[in-house]
Amino acid sequence: MNPLERLSSISKVSTETEFYTPMPAGYRPGQTKYVVVFGTVISGLGKGIFSSSLAKCLQDQGLTVAPIKLEGYLNIDSGTLNPYRHGEVFVLDDGMECDMDLGTYERMLDQDLSRLNFSTSGQVFTRVLEKERKGGYLGRDVQLIPHVTGEVKLKLRELAVASNADVVFVEIGGTAGDLENAYAIEATRELAFEEGPDSCCFVALTYVIEPAILGEQKSKAAQLGIRQLLERGIQPHIIACRARQHVRKKVREKLALYSNVPLERVLSMHDSESVYEIPEMLHDAGLDEALLDILRIRDRVDDMLAQKARERWNDYTRRYRGANRGVTIGITGKYTTVRDSYASIIQALEHAGTALDARVHIEWIDTTEITGENVAARVQGLDGVLVPGGFGLRGAEGKIECIRYARENHLPYLGLCYGFQLAVIEFARNVCGMEGANSTEIAPETPHPVIDVLPEQKQIEGLGGSMRLGGQDVAISPGTLASKLFHHAPEVRLRFRHRYEVDPDYVERLEQAGLVFSGRAPSYPIMQILELPENVHPFFIGTQAHPELTSRPLRPSPLFLGLVQAATLTTKQSEDKRSVRN
Ligand code: GLN
Repeated sequence: MNPLERLSSISKVSTETEFYTPMPAGYRPGQTKYVVVFGTVISGLGKGIFSSSLAKCLQDQGLTVAPIKLEGYLNIDSGTLNPYRHGEVFVLDDGMECDMDLGTYERMLDQDLSRLNFSTSGQVFTRVLEKERKGGYLGRDVQLIPHVTGEVKLKLRELAVASNADVVFVEIGGTAGDLENAYAIEATRELAFEEGPDSCCFVALTYVIEPAILGEQKSKAAQLGIRQLLERGIQPHIIACRARQHVRKKVREKLALYSNVPLERVLSMHDSESVYEIPEMLHDAGLDEALLDILRIRDRVDDMLAQKARERWNDYTRRYRGANRGVTIGITGKYTTVRDSYASIIQALEHAGTALDARVHIEWIDTTEITGENVAARVQGLDGVLVPGGFGLRGAEGKIECIRYARENHLPYLGLCYGFQLAVIEFARNVCGMEGANSTEIAPETPHPVIDVLPEQKQIEGLGGSMRLGGQDVAISPGTLASKLFHHAPEVRLRFRHRYEVDPDYVERLEQAGLVFSGRAPSYPIMQILELPENVHPFFIGTQAHPELTSRPLRPSPLFLGLVQAATLTTKQSEDKRSVRN
């Protein structure tokens, strides 16, 4: 039976059949293949990094790829999740607030994604319940199988149609054995059955433990994890073993034996210095070749392209490793919780540093204890300061002190979103003399609410998905630092996630005192970039946007490039001073 016949026999939604497989209009059976990545043993193994690296390998071969992450939780999106628990909230151009893995996909693939690339159990169940209320299930009792799984398959195929991808990469959140993602795993099993042979490749990411008391790698936990998948009817084609060190052959042999996967498709995926080295690691292990064979898409490959794409990428990782100078940027945030909650900022600094041949070291500054008296001791010696996005009053006064220090001492400064708003507050208080100036988010009764809730936000009730979200155009004033950084583009597009803004009534007073608003929303009085003129301060800039979200390895954010470039000059100046003293 060809793919078309096979699918049309099961895709009729009627009372006559047990199948429930709604198909999106325009679906072309056999055009799109699927790679599904499952986690086993433990979560947090870097499934997104692995899956996006795999997708990148195929993209390099000239194939069109489209990723999708299926989250098990019932939230509709990630917007209401605490970033200190779940990692940063990543915002897509269309305003979708999603898991940080989507950032990894965008960076690795250099591709803008949309809400079609992100799904949660909350979205799936909402769709099912809405359909049920409209009588969409033709008198049937609505069940996990086939109805909920049917909606999951529909989402995957909708992405296939919209992207016209050669390969859709499906990342299932959590680990096999979790109750909350069991139906999603089942949906991919059904998908493989329906699409037929050579249509789906199942990849299990697992973890090989090395207990200190034994001092050797043990495969049992990984075996049990894979067994969870086998019990659900998923026979993996490939197993990738995460481990601290190279996974030994004996361990791989055991896994191969217990899981019916040929030894050459049981791979070691040990720690590496930069995540951008992983595509090459997978390529060297022959994983892209294996995928092409399993999915039978070798004829779609463009060899010429593959060579060039890999060279460009490897040039990045070579430069990253070979960077011969260092700069230290202080970021306000508490060290213990920051790695995931500021993932995109860490990445954006790496991209900018690599482009400038500099390794960026980050120092985290806990601002809850910082005052006007001790700020110098804490910030001195840094080559630049960055105040990232944030909410609420915790540590805000300490951040304002850091900004004041940077402004008064000519230390390069970049403020992102909240860091932009706090820079306005600092300037209003200490330059314009507006005592007690603040944001109404921090102090609702402030005498000078220089930062206030956006007018369209005043009517909104509830917190989910209600901020000013997603890509917005920013008009850049000519002759400014911003204009220079953005290569004189009159307008740029940046991503936003905020509820508060500079109150337009204060703009004139702030500008008269020397603050320059060099980026604005084209048709509303929303201030989006601020700066100090270059004859006043070498690099002091802030933006209401989140430029870290659109920084890519080979296309770093101009604002981050500016910060790191200015920071290298600070390092140079302090080195010069030291050599004069010696
Ligand atoms: N809390 C501020 C606002 O809502 C800043 C938000 C942010 O930094 N993402 O406007």
